[in-house]
Amino acid sequence: MSQRTGEKNIGEWPFERLMHWPPLTYRDALPVTHSTMSCFTDYLNSESKNNFNRELQPWVPFCSSKCAFCYFAVSCRTNYVSPYISALKKALLLYAKSKYVKSCIFNEVYVGGGSPSVLSKKHIADLLQFCRKNFNLSPVCSIKFTTCTIGLSEEKLRFLSSQEIDQIDVGVQTFNDYFRKMLKLQDNSSEVKTKLKIAKKHNLRVSIDLLYNLPGQSLEQWEKDVRQALELNVESVDCYPLDLYPDTLLAKQVAAGELPPPNDGSVELEMYLKAFKIFTENGYVPSCHNRFTRIKEDLAEPSSEVVGTGSGFFMGHVGNFLYSDVENIKEYISVVSNGIFPLSKIKILTREDEMKNAMMLLYVRVPVERRKFKEKFGVYPEEAFPDAIKTLQEKQLIEIREDKIKLTETGDPWRFNIAWEFFKDENRS
Ligand code: SF4
Repeated sequence: MSQRTGEKNIGEWPFERLMHWPPLTYRDALPVTHSTMSCFTDYLNSESKNNFNRELQPWVPFCSSKCAFCYFAVSCRTNYVSPYISALKKALLLYAKSKYVKSCIFNEVYVGGGSPSVLSKKHIADLLQFCRKNFNLSPVCSIKFTTCTIGLSEEKLRFLSSQEIDQIDVGVQTFNDYFRKMLKLQDNSSEVKTKLKIAKKHNLRVSIDLLYNLPGQSLEQWEKDVRQALELNVESVDCYPLDLYPDTLLAKQVAAGELPPPNDGSVELEMYLKAFKIFTENGYVPSCHNRFTRIKEDLAEPSSEVVGTGSGFFMGHVGNFLYSDVENIKEYISVVSNGIFPLSKIKILTREDEMKNAMMLLYVRVPVERRKFKEKFGVYPEEAFPDAIKTLQEKQLIEIREDKIKLTETGDPWRFNIAWEFFKDENRS
């Protein structure tokens, strides 16, 4: 049976299993050394010569409670909030004062975490004002703010709107109350729906996260979540398959037999294809790595660089450096108080890595422009990765049209696997 119906059996799959993440993430970076830190700071002391899309990410690692599936380094202890915000501003200033960042324009500020919405109004206003004052934000810069639904009162939503925040990214996860309890989400579905409606009333663009393939979740239950998102008329939905990380409460409960394990890959694929079908039939476009969207900006090229900092921040990308910050809040505060960039891990991309990285963009559904690739690296993609491109074309997972290498619809669910193909050494010519 065809993959489009989701009933294809595993023996016919193009890969053994569905990957959830691309290669070359912060997980591959190495602990920072004196030498790599010097390279990083030297680079920041040089002027930027590129004019591409950039994102600023201040990171707030606080949440009101820990969700059962969450693997992020977050804290529920409010006594560190004030010293943390002071440290965060100091760390942001280290970047803002650098020659490199002074010559950068940012198209997006993404306040991530954690759940920055748990901060007081005073801290939120202070942080946003600080970013506006110290960084060159483009006149059309959009401000996005991560939230959980706890504490998202009408007053808070009105306030977020008054701060000229364009979009809130809300960790909804599921509208099903049984699964909400399982995931240790503190409010019920009815409260969540009310909050999303109020957010829209205050002119905030609403983007939500949904998790699928939860322990014991059926296809019908997942479909209800998808249709609920449609009914609420949200602007975009990030659909993530559940990953069980060993130290999470959910993983422990599954390991102890208290909860059933998530369904196998064929059901997971069927769930993804169901969401794909429903969203695309209703005017949403697949974009980024896991998103269905109606937001125009989501279809533009993603940011090429992410300048960010915060305890647990892991998305840093400046020049050919990927970096993440120390996770422990007290350590973060202490390192920053000494005027040092609070990096914990760093990866310096080689030219080879940059080529692979350029191909990897397929997983965020961005086509690879052959001529631009050749201008940058001196070879066409099919000269650099002959085996990978041939195999993926034969499997009809990618296609070359109008000088662009694109995912096909068949390739879409396999976009992470496709990215990994360019990281197999045997594919290099
Ligand atoms: S709200 Fe988000 S960051 Fe906080 S514990 Fe839950 S999943 Fe993790």
